[in-house]
Amino acid sequence: MASQAPELPFTMKAQELHAYNTPYILRDVPIPKIMSPYDLLIKIDAASYCHTDAVVTAGQKPGCPSKFPHVGCHEFAGTVIAKHAGAAPCARTFQPGDRVGVVGCAYHPCEECDECLSYGGPESDSDPPGYSVYCPHAGNLGITLDGGFQEYAVVDARQVAVIPTGMSAAEAAPLMCAGVTIYAALKKLGLERGQGIGIIGCGGGLGHLGLQFAVKMGLDVIGVDNADRPLQLARELNTGARIVDARSEEAADIAQGVNSTKGGKPRPSGERGLDAVIVLPESQRAFDYGVKLLRNHGKCMVISVPTEGFRFSAADVVLRDISIIGSLVGSNRVTKEMLEFAARHQVKSVSRSFPLTGLNDLVREYEKGLGGKLVIDMSLR
Ligand SMILES: [Zn+2]
Ligand SMILES: [Zn+2]
Repeated sequence: MASQAPELPFTMKAQELHAYNTPYILRDVPIPKIMSPYDLLIKIDAASYCHTDAVVTAGQKPGCPSKFPHVGCHEFAGTVIAKHAGAAPCARTFQPGDRVGVVGCAYHPCEECDECLSYGGPESDSDPPGYSVYCPHAGNLGITLDGGFQEYAVVDARQVAVIPTGMSAAEAAPLMCAGVTIYAALKKLGLERGQGIGIIGCGGGLGHLGLQFAVKMGLDVIGVDNADRPLQLARELNTGARIVDARSEEAADIAQGVNSTKGGKPRPSGERGLDAVIVLPESQRAFDYGVKLLRNHGKCMVISVPTEGFRFSAADVVLRDISIIGSLVGSNRVTKEMLEFAARHQVKSVSRSFPLTGLNDLVREYEKGLGGKLVIDMSLR
């Protein structure tokens, strides 16, 4: 039951997926209903396309979606329309008209499992007990459940973050998966200012945001890509990061040229190389290139999930003490922090917008691999 029930139309437009490997179909469907005290009904203003949308559409994510037809998109932004008549305290703080960004994961977590009761990350990044993005029983809007490629959605008040003043919905939406994922990964590496980080796949959706976040965090940044348009996009950001074309520059040469510092002191020449790399493409070559950029004891952060996995060299792990770690989106607390950081430092995705009716055009554009982000902007017709 909704409080302050606004005058809503009976139906809305939704882009539905009816089977794997088929185009989206635009249909008129009922507006979703608020079911729980945690729920907010929002009018969607912008919805961004993520690589995981392509993975789900291709049937490469087992168990996803949980049913057909399915509405994709797990990074979106909208305006609060209504909440439950008996709203939970966390939902009560939201008012109609509030603008929120939505991270698709952790819709209605179970509140009882170990993950929900004790998030495993650093205390300062964790959400209050009862909520965890790692809850295996939670829904995932846009992946298991319906997401943002529709005019209205019901979201969990614990999975949203208020959009800072001055940031548009179309700017916020791409930050809600790509932005928080790369921001949380950078935080998890725990680097100090001046330490060296490589971002492999720096012209892609996550990569070009990562370049901006990492530079603004004070890190010494090298961005790597291997195709003309993504490289051009990364260079045109003018972040101050060094941009490397992996087709023409050897990783070992780059590593030897790195002279990052720790604690303000230059490293001896034998310890040259990056302190960490984040590998974004689902490609073994990208992974190998990244590991070669690392100094001994460096960290390789994996974000993508190729079905065949990554191969690592035991010599790298044993003899060079390279650690291979991963990162999954971020807590709600980190999402809020990321949006504030992005607004303060003007971190923005390079994006192109399409109307909701143009979602299949967007997908065709995505398949060209030109870099940046592609966003459905509901204000476009
Ligand atoms: Zn995503
Ligand atoms: Zn749980």
